[in-house]
Amino acid sequence: MGQWRHRDSNEMEESGNEAGETNAPTAGVAGNVEEEKISTTTLTLNAEGRYLRQWRIVRKEVSECVLCELHRTRKNTVFGVGAEDADLMLIGEAPGADEDAQGEPFVGRAGKLLDSMLAAIGMSRERVFIANILKCRPPNNENPTPNEAEKCRPYLNRQIELIQPKAILALGAVAAHNLLDVETPIGRLRGAVHEMSGSGIPVIPTYHPAYLLRRPQGKAQAFEDLMLLCDLLEDLGVSTT
Ligand code: SF4
Repeated sequence: MGQWRHRDSNEMEESGNEAGETNAPTAGVAGNVEEEKISTTTLTLNAEGRYLRQWRIVRKEVSECVLCELHRTRKNTVFGVGAEDADLMLIGEAPGADEDAQGEPFVGRAGKLLDSMLAAIGMSRERVFIANILKCRPPNNENPTPNEAEKCRPYLNRQIELIQPKAILALGAVAAHNLLDVETPIGRLRGAVHEMSGSGIPVIPTYHPAYLLRRPQGKAQAFEDLMLLCDLLEDLGVSTT
C-alpha cells in the first residue's frame, strides 16, 4: 500500500506541475464556463418567467376591465387566440355576437372564411395570433368609437410587444385605421404594405371576412392581398408551408 501510496504521490507530484500549469486552470475555466452556463440558464428562466407573468397580467386585466362602457353589455371579453410567438398577427375590429358568446375571436361564418384565407397562404390558426382592436363587443355591432378604441389600445399594444410579430394582416377598415393612424378608405389602403405607426411593423390591410360574406366580389382583391402577404412573409424569412 505504501508503494502504491508513494507512486501515487510521485505521480501526483510529477503531474502536479502539469496539473498546476494545465489541469488546475482548466478546471477553473471549466468551472467558470459551468457557472456562466448556470447564470445564463437562470437569466433565461427569469426572462421566461417575466414573459409568462406579463401574459398572465394582461389576460387578467382584460378579463376584469371596466375602462369603457362596453363592459356593461359584454358576455365575455375576447382576449385573442393563437401562438404567443407568432410571426404573423391578424387584427380585426371587435367581437361580434358569436365571439361575445364564446370569448373567442372570429368564430361563426366569418371565422370559417378567415380559416380559408389562412389556408390559402399555408397558415392555420395555430400558427398566428388573432386579436381585435376592441376586447368587448359593441352593442349592435357598431363601429368602435374613438374613445373605446383609445381605452382598449394599450392591451393590444402589450400583446404586440409580447408577441413581436414580423407582420400584421389588418382585417377591415377599423383595424387598418387604428393601426396606421389614418382615415384613408380601406379600398385605397389595401394592395400595399404599410408600417404600423410607432412600431414600424409591416401591415397589410385587407377586407374583413364579414364584409366579404356580404360582398363576395371583394374576394379576388382579398386574395391578391394574401398573395402580397405571402411574398412579404417570404422576404422576412417566414415559412408559409
Ligand atoms: S372594450 Fe377594452 S377598454 Fe372597453 S371594457 Fe372592454 S377591455 Fe376594457
